[in-house]
Amino acid sequence: MSEKQSPLTDFRAAIRTIPDYPKPGILFRDITTLLADPIAFRAAVDALVAPYADQRIRHVAGIEARGFILGGALAHQLTAGFVPIRKKGKLPHETIRVSYDLEYGTDEIELHKDAIKPGERVLLTDDLIATGGTATGAIKLLRELGAEIVAACFVIDLPDLGGAQRIRDLGVDVRTLVS
Ligand code: AMP
Repeated sequence: MSEKQSPLTDFRAAIRTIPDYPKPGILFRDITTLLADPIAFRAAVDALVAPYADQRIRHVAGIEARGFILGGALAHQLTAGFVPIRKKGKLPHETIRVSYDLEYGTDEIELHKDAIKPGERVLLTDDLIATGGTATGAIKLLRELGAEIVAACFVIDLPDLGGAQRIRDLGVDVRTLVS
């Protein structure tokens, strides 16, 4: 294993915490510092894709916006396509939509109706799982199109908020790098 793929990469140290953003009381886990670190970014992508290399993933679905950055890199590594799951009103073609609760507020996400064909194997990704509301909504959209969701992977899990368990309860495997 090369130095750039060291399993000893300290992902936790590469993530910055911003207190009281975007609201008082929220500890915002900022992965822009990890993304800007060549070794940590590569190691994170390698660690996230490792279990899925032979899993015939057809698409990586990334949740706006930080899930796009990770998802593009994961899709490249897996020779998969990339499918964006976006906030409402951003996708130009016909969409399906779901509303969901956030740790701070509510929102709606959309997926192009023709983005995925029934039975296609999909890996879902985002930077962080908090309550699991966003990822659960994304899973609903993907399943509405008949996707087979192989797993959902995230850099960070906030286990006290129970999101990973909510996703597992839907029968989707969850992988995270840092708790
Ligand atoms: P949730 O739907 O509650 O699991 O929230 C996950 C989504 O909200 C992800 O897209 C995260 O980027 C964002 N998010 C929620 N809580 C935080 C946090 N404490 N730090 C950074 N991002 C967060």
